[in-house]
Amino acid sequence: MSNQIYDVIIIGSGPAGLTAAIYSTRSILKTLVISGSVWGGQLMLTSDVEDFPGFPEIIQGPELMRRMRAQAERLGTEFDDNDVKEVDFSKRPFRVKTSSNEFLGNAVIIATGASAKWLGLPSEQKFVGRGVSSCAVCDGPFFKDKEIAVVGGGDSAMREALFLAKIATEVTIIHRRNALRAFQALQERAFSAKNIKFIWNSEVQEVFGEQKVQGVRIRNNKTGKEEDLEINGLFVAIGHKPNTEFLKGQIELDEKNYIVLKNHSQTSVPGIFAGGDVHDWHYQQAVTAAGAGCMAAMDAEEFLEEEKSKKKVSVRASIK
Ligand code: NAP
Repeated sequence: MSNQIYDVIIIGSGPAGLTAAIYSTRSILKTLVISGSVWGGQLMLTSDVEDFPGFPEIIQGPELMRRMRAQAERLGTEFDDNDVKEVDFSKRPFRVKTSSNEFLGNAVIIATGASAKWLGLPSEQKFVGRGVSSCAVCDGPFFKDKEIAVVGGGDSAMREALFLAKIATEVTIIHRRNALRAFQALQERAFSAKNIKFIWNSEVQEVFGEQKVQGVRIRNNKTGKEEDLEINGLFVAIGHKPNTEFLKGQIELDEKNYIVLKNHSQTSVPGIFAGGDVHDWHYQQAVTAAGAGCMAAMDAEEFLEEEKSKKKVSVRASIK
């Protein structure tokens, strides 16, 4: 176990975690980022990023993350590139265990994000960033005047399809049942959009193409009939899973295992803060996650300062 106690331990190294690190280190707090064995979060799987302010030319997702990390490192953030296995938030200092070490922190910021659920097809993974995406807001604008398919029948799928319908010529929603689970108003908007059509009771079997996606093979699960649909992009919108497995029993999670925030970025345990997609299932953007990381770091700093001044007052009172 490392004997030193960090002021702030940040778990996660996407835009939320690295922004928190930049703010925390600049506040002269001894800061450690436990970045995970695969660091950088979802942007490491994204090619062109057009919507992160400050980059008038397109920047690649991994390059953006390398720059954020370099900025945190230059300011003095320490990094441990391992996955967190276990935490103990029941007493101070808080304990955070990785496979090879144990760290102590007076405050912890959780920024472990969420992972998009994928269909699990080898051909799907082959085309991620080359026509297959899980984020319409991020990648939709690259499909102007193209034909696109969206997989899923929930709120996310309808929102993605409606967003994409403004950009693409035609959007086909492929759903495995014959009824949607999205909320009614979204269903109605999707049904009334002129360039959204539906393929029911169907599942994607394979994504095909040369360099980029050229189509998908679909199988009707009622009739067994297979057909090819020619498209330029496939958006998989079958939900996200927050990365909170290691937090069960330690802080409050909601019914879908997202972190519940109590007061700004503070979780149910004072001294434990969170920001980014691990809490926010709604916006799920790099820039909103970065903003949330900044807020979590500022809240952690305020928490540690208040604690320090309370201690000073009680020492003064005991001297009198
Ligand atoms: P969702 O409602 O779970 O819908 C997922 C859709 O994808 C369903 O239509 C499902 O089909 C389909 N699907 C799942 N796995 C599939 C697979 N392997 N192959 C093909 N299709 C598959 O997810 P969502 O659309 O992301 O919406 C999540 C909703 O939950 C949102 O309305 C959001 O407002 C809400 N939300 C709330 C919280 C919270 O309160 N904390 C957190 C997150 C999300 P079936 O319909 O056949 O199941």
